[in-house]
Amino acid sequence: MLEIKNLHVKLEEEDKVILNGVDLTIGAGEVHAIMGPNGSGKSTLSYVLAGRDGYEVTEGSATLDGQELLEMEPEERAAAGLFLAFQYPVEIPGLGMGKFLKRAVEARLPEGESVNVSAFLKEVRADMDWLSFDRAFLGRSLNDGFSGGEKKRAEILQLLTLKPGFAIFDETDSGLDIDALKIVAAGIERMRGPGFGALIITHYRRILDYAVPSLVHVMYKGRLVLTGGTEIVRDLEAKGYDWIREGYGSPEDEIEAEEIRSGSALAEATHG
Ligand code: ADP
Ligand code: MG
Repeated sequence: MLEIKNLHVKLEEEDKVILNGVDLTIGAGEVHAIMGPNGSGKSTLSYVLAGRDGYEVTEGSATLDGQELLEMEPEERAAAGLFLAFQYPVEIPGLGMGKFLKRAVEARLPEGESVNVSAFLKEVRADMDWLSFDRAFLGRSLNDGFSGGEKKRAEILQLLTLKPGFAIFDETDSGLDIDALKIVAAGIERMRGPGFGALIITHYRRILDYAVPSLVHVMYKGRLVLTGGTEIVRDLEAKGYDWIREGYGSPEDEIEAEEIRSGSALAEATHG
């Protein structure tokens, strides 16, 4: 279970507050989604949970199965069962995917234990077959020259191999074709169960049609301002974010919303 309580985060270098009291509980076996306009703090939330530099937590806590994540080093968080998938996976020239996976599994084993290589390979190969991922990729540098769909397969292969207790997908579906999207969703669905929770951060309904969340939250200005079922996804698709800005924003936001509206009206007028 992931439990975030009253999380406040600012940039380390600047007095800019980005998260302004986030409360979120995702129980074991649950998949939640966060949507929200650009710049509302969604990625910051995933970065702070993963332990990326540059952010200062000024208040609040985030625990995974009762362990305080915010006091751990990034690799300790991964060892505690946290997994992050990003929109643009890093390319690691010179490190074969098979070696990378083995090291990642090793890093999460208790001291003194080692990977049973033949069992590891057997499982990885079976997962690659399940993903229709050519086994030759095991010997290739991770993500180096991989197509978008191959990167997604590599990412889901990591998910299936590492079996984290909790995974965050930060816009990992953006820019994907429908096949790659289905791979991501199928990976989430295969993991879904009492020992796994997930948070899907997305702008699009598509992935949530395949990996259906139990709850959907809307983040706006560093807070989760609305929580509900998948009807929220349909509302956002139909109405955009204006009603969120109007309902939860300041007068300045209304001006911003109006500018966006008149901007798009202008664009429509000029493009016919
Ligand atoms: P979202 O993922 O919802 O689009 P982000 O978390 O990426 O939002 O960003 C929230 C706000 O914080 C934005 O205004 C962004 O410019 C700012 N921000 C986030 N990280 C940094 C950073 N490292 N340096 C400067 N500004 C940042
Ligand atoms: Mg983002």
